[in-house]
Amino acid sequence: MGGFYNVRTADGTLFCKPRGIFRKEKTVIVVGDRVRVEPLPDGTGVITELLPRKNFFLRPPLANLDQMFIILAAANPAPDPMFADKLAVVCEQNDIAPVIVVNKSDLCSQRELLDAYRKAGYATIEASAKTGAGTDDILRCAQGCGPRGCGAQGCGALSGSPQGCGAQGCVSAFSGFSGAGKSSLLSLLLPQQLKTGSVNEKLGRGRHTTRHTELFEVAPGAFIADTAGFSSFDILQNTTLRKEDLQEAFPEFRPFLGQCRWNACTHLPKERDCAVRAAVERGEIAPTRYADYCAMYEQLKARPDWK
Ligand code: GDP
Ligand code: ZN
Repeated sequence: MGGFYNVRTADGTLFCKPRGIFRKEKTVIVVGDRVRVEPLPDGTGVITELLPRKNFFLRPPLANLDQMFIILAAANPAPDPMFADKLAVVCEQNDIAPVIVVNKSDLCSQRELLDAYRKAGYATIEASAKTGAGTDDILRCAQGCGPRGCGAQGCGALSGSPQGCGAQGCVSAFSGFSGAGKSSLLSLLLPQQLKTGSVNEKLGRGRHTTRHTELFEVAPGAFIADTAGFSSFDILQNTTLRKEDLQEAFPEFRPFLGQCRWNACTHLPKERDCAVRAAVERGEIAPTRYADYCAMYEQLKARPDWK
């Protein structure tokens, strides 16, 4: 904040100011960035170099994200699969492993919802910040996108995906609607760090208590950013994703690509002899995921090309 950064180094945290050149070049340094620093005699430091990024977001400001916990509430507010599916597409595009967390599982079960993502090959966690259920799985996942994997069903690292981040530490983010329970879950992982606002029962929403992005080390090498800022409204507008490439962002479609009657099959309902749709009919792809694919395809199609 205010042009200063807390930089984690091998010898502890260093309070650093970026070199003037960063400001001159209008380079923004964000949470998750890897940098080189030089310590100063007064105990602070200077950021001298910004290392290459694996991915970068301006809203919320975050870089080098390895994993995204997409948090939905089982109820209150009701889960919005489209929101999760859009975030998952963003993850696929940016080499981020999505983990689907259905919180508030004490209120009701969302087996079908979880099942849709298991079929997509994603790690899924049924959690409750109220009972503490699932928090150990979240912790394991947060630590585990390294080579050993986290053991959760569908863990990207276990299936040999490039999303494993090795020994440097794993950076995850929480995302989801306001009121889904992000702060409550995070404060269970890290007591004292975050306070949850009181719920406004009328709106069915928790008060927004997170203001800026910060990384919390929930276990050695496992960092979680609290990113209340990921919202769906600009996700597809600001992407360079072409409608033709959307199919690749749905991992459960991949085994069927190239097997449709037409090479340029869009897999939309109007297509004949579509292998993807046949898989939906056989129950191998969840209908909600397929419907959201179709809706996103139309959205990308409607977007002017010059964007
Ligand atoms: P955020 O906006 O995503 O950070 O959500 P909060 O953590 O502020 O939670 C919103 C409201 O839901 C608060 O009143 C929490 O007490 C409540 N809440 C959070 N997790 C659970 C849960 O697992 N079960 C139930 N029943 N309520 C929860
Ligand atoms: Zn098709």
